[in-house]
Amino acid sequence: MYKKILFATDLSDDTEYVLNKVRAMCDFTKAQLNVIHVVEPMPGYSYAYLGIEDIEGQLIEEARTALSKLSTELSVEPQNQWVEVGPTKSKIHAVAKNIGADLIICGSHGRHGLSLLLGSTANAILHGSSCDVLVVRLPEEQ
Ligand code: AMP
Repeated sequence: MYKKILFATDLSDDTEYVLNKVRAMCDFTKAQLNVIHVVEPMPGYSYAYLGIEDIEGQLIEEARTALSKLSTELSVEPQNQWVEVGPTKSKIHAVAKNIGADLIICGSHGRHGLSLLLGSTANAILHGSSCDVLVVRLPEEQ
């Protein structure tokens, strides 16, 4: 079955919900697990007035720390942990292609209305992916 799985996480509380399914899929397939979080680039103006010199750098550092903690829970080796900076969809597709992933796992809120029209991240990942995508439906937001 699948040999290389890429789990895309926004590092939110929802991650915990998807984890069980990621674990089950890895147990079932014996695939190698990779995890990715993408930091969207910040507009290039100064946040010094907030007392923050390098907000993007801080976001990257925080993402690395959080992804590493998650990776420990999932037994993902450091070389299979990806923190990328750029547009979420294209970075996930690029890493999936580079590592030869045959399955991407992500979550999705079954949104309606405007967010559906604009398209969710899950939609964006699904469309244009060259491998299978498992979209885990997240519980409704309260
Ligand atoms: P969203 O449409 O923002 O609710 O995101 C749906 C799913 O896309 C999340 O559950 C994650 O699996 C994935 N995702 C969203 N944002 C990111 C991100 N910055 N990096 C990696 N995966 C993400």
